[in-house]
Amino acid sequence: MSENKVIRIGIVGCGGMGGGHAVALHSGTGNAIWNVKTGTVDAFDSEMTSNVREFLELAGTFDIKEERQEWARSFGIHTYDSYEEMLADPSVDAILIATPNHLHKEQAIAALQAGKHVLCEKPVMLSAKDLRDVVAVAKETGRVFYPRQNREWDEDYLIIKKIYDEKLIGNVFNVKCRIMGSRGIPGDWRGIKACGGGMMLDWGVHIIDRMLQMVPAKVTRLYCTMTHITNDECDDGFQLLLTFADGMTCNLEVGTCHFVNEPLWCIYGDKGSAEIMNWKLDGRMVRLTSWEDKDVLPIVAGAGLTKTMAPRKAGESTEELPLPRFDYDRNALYRNFAETCRGTAAQIVTNEHAERVLRLMEAAFESDRLGEAVSFE
Ligand code: NAD
Repeated sequence: MSENKVIRIGIVGCGGMGGGHAVALHSGTGNAIWNVKTGTVDAFDSEMTSNVREFLELAGTFDIKEERQEWARSFGIHTYDSYEEMLADPSVDAILIATPNHLHKEQAIAALQAGKHVLCEKPVMLSAKDLRDVVAVAKETGRVFYPRQNREWDEDYLIIKKIYDEKLIGNVFNVKCRIMGSRGIPGDWRGIKACGGGMMLDWGVHIIDRMLQMVPAKVTRLYCTMTHITNDECDDGFQLLLTFADGMTCNLEVGTCHFVNEPLWCIYGDKGSAEIMNWKLDGRMVRLTSWEDKDVLPIVAGAGLTKTMAPRKAGESTEELPLPRFDYDRNALYRNFAETCRGTAAQIVTNEHAERVLRLMEAAFESDRLGEAVSFE
């Protein structure tokens, strides 16, 4: 395959996410801010974002629902009459799988066996074993199988990663990430166990993926409690505590019955703390300038006094700084996928990494079942 070949990609499943991909690729803006109802797209205002047309071209879409076929056609997108027809099209180099989770395995194997590369929505598979099976087929057929764990490129996470990597608040000892909604599980396949429903397989994938990418140490122990506040069949949220071999801990929480929100992220180091409050990325870093004025007069706290927990006044041996912000390539995953298909780059999101995420999620389900902490790695 030529080093500059534009990869022609077909999308199977043209619902919320597949429709988003379809509009983004068809319009050429790539990983843009899209409005799936109207199909309008606002490109990110980013100098770093690469031009998706240089490496990916939408061949067409297929969805089992006629209304989604019509929706795609209303933007001038070509639709295939069946998945088989898409797989049989020799001009299609790759398939993007954006169907409900339980369909990913059979559709990925069918695509690989038809000689197509595969970009597969998360969770790539329902189990680590299923992923190993699919990767074996990718090896046999010499095709790329790529997990679309795209949230490694979200700016909220990139800010936290920069603070962690560059020790902007010293050595980090704890990170908290909380994804909080108030609408329960959507009333579709996400509430059905056999379809791979539940929030662990939904948001869990993203936030575990990011923690395992950020922290180089092994996870030694984890404890997970799933919630079933709005849904008996599937978890509608969870609280997961990870302990890393270097002593760092990480609290990951997803909930769908929260009507007041805690910060999206808090990160704590031995020289400061930082928080990101929301998706708009409001937040701050507070850095310690000296430990010297440790002792203060007690304050009233409830029916008692405390000096240990007396909050610092603004500027009291601390400085407040804005969060680091930066521009980056919003199409990095699309680009890396295309380059991997061309054979000019290695996968940034590897299957080994995706398998580690799936194994950790399996351990989390086990911890919830046992009601106790389990060891990992
Ligand atoms: P959705 O229900 O909105 O869309 C799924 C579509 O697949 C539907 O239109 C349905 O008709 C179609 N479909 C079902 N069976 C099919 C078949 N056999 N062949 C062709 N089409 C079929 O769901 P969604 O929110 O778009 O989620 C789809 C996938 O994308 C899931 O795996 C989900 O986890 C993932 N997703 C990823 C992100 C992300 O940020 N990476 C975000 C949302 C969803």
